[in-house]
Amino acid sequence: MAPEPVACFVVLGRQGSGKGTQCELLESKTGVIHISTGVMLRKAVEAGTEIGKQAKAIMDSGNLVGDEIMCGIVSERLAQDDVIEKGTVLDGFPRTPAQAEALTEILEELGIELRLAINLEVDDAQVIERMLERGRDDDTQEVIERRLQLYEQETAPLLDWFNSRGLLKSVDGSGTPEEVFENLSALVSS
Ligand code: AMP
Repeated sequence: MAPEPVACFVVLGRQGSGKGTQCELLESKTGVIHISTGVMLRKAVEAGTEIGKQAKAIMDSGNLVGDEIMCGIVSERLAQDDVIEKGTVLDGFPRTPAQAEALTEILEELGIELRLAINLEVDDAQVIERMLERGRDDDTQEVIERRLQLYEQETAPLLDWFNSRGLLKSVDGSGTPEEVFENLSALVSS
C-alpha cells in the first residue's frame, strides 16, 4: 500500500485573527512545519535581499506583494525536505484566488495533500484592537484599514474557493489562544 501523503493545512482569517499563534501551536504539538509568508517577507526585508527590497514599500502601504513573487517563494519553501517529510501549515498564503490555484499545482507536483483550510473567525473590532496592541511597522490605523479592505476583496473569496472543494471548516477565534487551539486541533485530527 502506498504511504499516506503528508498534509498541507491552510489557516485563513483577517490579519490579527491569531493565525500566527495558532499555527505555532499546531507546529509545536503535531510537528507540521509552519510557513508564514509575512515572516518570510519581513526576514527578506531585514536581510536586504532583492525580494525584500521589492516587497518593503508594498508591505509598508498594506498592499499585497505580487502573486508571481509570492508563488515563487512558497514553492521553493514547500519543496524543502522538512515539509516533504512532515507536512505544513500555511499562514498568510494563499491570499488571492490565483495563489490558491498555484498552490494546488505546487502541492500536486510535490505529492502533498491539500487537506483542510481553517477559517479563524474574529470580528473587525477585535482584530483592529489586537493589531494596534501588536505595534508592528505596518500596524498603523491607516495601513490596517487598507489590509482589512484587501482581505475582504482578495482573500475572503478564498473561503468560497475552499468551501466549494469541500475543504473549509471554521473556528471561533475570539477566545484565548488555548481555547481556540482546542477547537482547531479537533478539526485537524478529525
Ligand atoms: P502578514 O504578516 O501575513 O500580515 O503579512 C504582512 C504583509 O506581507 C502583507 O500586508 C502583504 O503586504 C505581504 N504578504 C504576506 N503574505 C502575502 C501573500 N500571500 N500575498 C501577497 N502579499 C503578502
